[in-house]
Amino acid sequence: MQVIIIGAGIAGLSCARRLAQRSGIEVLILEGRDRIGGRIHTWDLKDNKTYNPKEAQKASFPIDLGASFIHGVSEGHPVKALEKEVGFTTFDSEEDESALIFYDRQSGKKLQGEKAEKVAFFSQGPLPKENLWSALLTRKDDPVYGELWEQLESEEEREMVMTMSKLWTGWTGALHWDLSLRWWGAENDFHGGNEVVLPGYQTLIQWSADKATFKGAKVELNKVVEKVQRLRNNKILVEVQDGTKYYADYLISSLPLGVMQNSPPAFEPDLPEGLKQSISNLGMGLLNKIVLRYETAWWRELSPPSFFCILPTQIAKRDQGYRWKGEQIPKTVEEAKYLVENEGIFAQNYDIINQSPILKIFLGPPIAHAVELLDDDWIIKTIHDRLIKSMLPNDEQASISPPASAQVTRWNKDTFSRGSYSYIPAANESPQFPGGSRQDMEVAATSIWDGTLGFCGEHTSADCYASVHGALLSGEREADRILHTLQKERL
Ligand SMILES: Cc1cc2nc3c(=O)[nH]c(=O)nc-3n(C[C@H](O)[C@H](O)[C@H](O)COP(=O)(O)OP(=O)(O)OC[C@H]3O[C@@H](n4cnc5c(N)ncnc54)[C@H](O)[C@@H]3O)c2cc1C
Repeated sequence: MQVIIIGAGIAGLSCARRLAQRSGIEVLILEGRDRIGGRIHTWDLKDNKTYNPKEAQKASFPIDLGASFIHGVSEGHPVKALEKEVGFTTFDSEEDESALIFYDRQSGKKLQGEKAEKVAFFSQGPLPKENLWSALLTRKDDPVYGELWEQLESEEEREMVMTMSKLWTGWTGALHWDLSLRWWGAENDFHGGNEVVLPGYQTLIQWSADKATFKGAKVELNKVVEKVQRLRNNKILVEVQDGTKYYADYLISSLPLGVMQNSPPAFEPDLPEGLKQSISNLGMGLLNKIVLRYETAWWRELSPPSFFCILPTQIAKRDQGYRWKGEQIPKTVEEAKYLVENEGIFAQNYDIINQSPILKIFLGPPIAHAVELLDDDWIIKTIHDRLIKSMLPNDEQASISPPASAQVTRWNKDTFSRGSYSYIPAANESPQFPGGSRQDMEVAATSIWDGTLGFCGEHTSADCYASVHGALLSGEREADRILHTLQKERL
């Protein structure tokens, strides 16, 4: 029996790994890219190529350009549970008491002590109900959030909190007011700390692929699926860009939400209307990263924690209600440049995490969209200048050399992902849109064509969407569904 899986991300590989354990099932993964891993991509900043855990040398600088954290580390976490078997280690980002320190671009001073704590609490505090992030999503006269808002003593404090809240758009990949408050936190995900996977998530990808191929599964790269057709004999014909045709008894698609929304293969017969509607109801968020490797960690003496912030050049100003003035996705190069030069940014300090002279910048909307419009050289120089000007006194800045190597991601432009991860969007009156819901993710996970065409991937994991573990579980779910059907057929 032939099972074909579209996509060798963690969902597709986990599906293959489980199916391949059963004798009598031939598993073939068709992957469009020239590498496995999808939105997991560990990059070697020394050799400037995809990091290969099998060829790891001590002097390499692996860094994750896609997923890097295990979120919600707690009892039974499916990725954390694999730590020993896969052979990765983790850095617990709470361990260094990563109290955020905010560098002020103008003065080069740190925002410290009580004031920093208050700003951190209100802008980032315990999600989802008790922080300003949620307050921003609702009306001020709401009794809970209104009260919270009043705890801030001045308009200046409110503006500072709003400024910091903006930095958290990377968490969801969406502007705050595009998120559905109704469905915020409704998922039944794992709750716990966030740990960075070392030397990188590629270890999990390689392990999953090895496990599957050891049991006979095959992976073919550079196979861009363009057409999926149900034949009269109930088999499924899969056609790829190079003209090759494949036949499957079962097909599992792990195509990302962004691909399903923007450039799906031609399905014959067409996908059911309800499924197409759910795919379009969901949102595909964007997080981009800039990684800068220096010859030495010039920031070491400032001793920032593993995560720190560079403040925006201007404090956020409130427009109507809780919107910020001028907050929108950039459309022109000028708008994009303004954002990269002025927006607040998060930096992750690898000098602490694994003693590498690397800073990783996390960019959520709208600055994440800005880098998609700009070229690498300009972005790298601008961010480097902002870092040294914000953190060092004037007389020390000239002695800092530019990065020895760097990478900028553009997950929206990437035709194999078209964004970073899914979110549930809020209703919108223009154009009329009722908003997304958890049910849309459940519909996106529903198999069709008498169960012969199934779907997995992070956006089909209603309880753990936007995560590696959600994608992994969704792949296993689809494998179990097929195994269960086969078992029933044998009765
Ligand atoms: C920048 C970034 C940071 C993130 N950070 C974290 C984090 O810290 N922790 C966390 O848990 N999650 C994080 N995530 C989310 C996590 O990476 C994803 O949820 C997860 O990797 C998705 O896996 P998947 O298998 O569902 O999809 P993918 O990994 O996207 O796999 C889908 C595969 O399908 C292939 N494909 C696409 N189109 C075609 C086609 N036409 N034909 C054939 N193949 C095709 C793709 O190339 C890809 O390999 C992050 C994501 C990004 C982008």
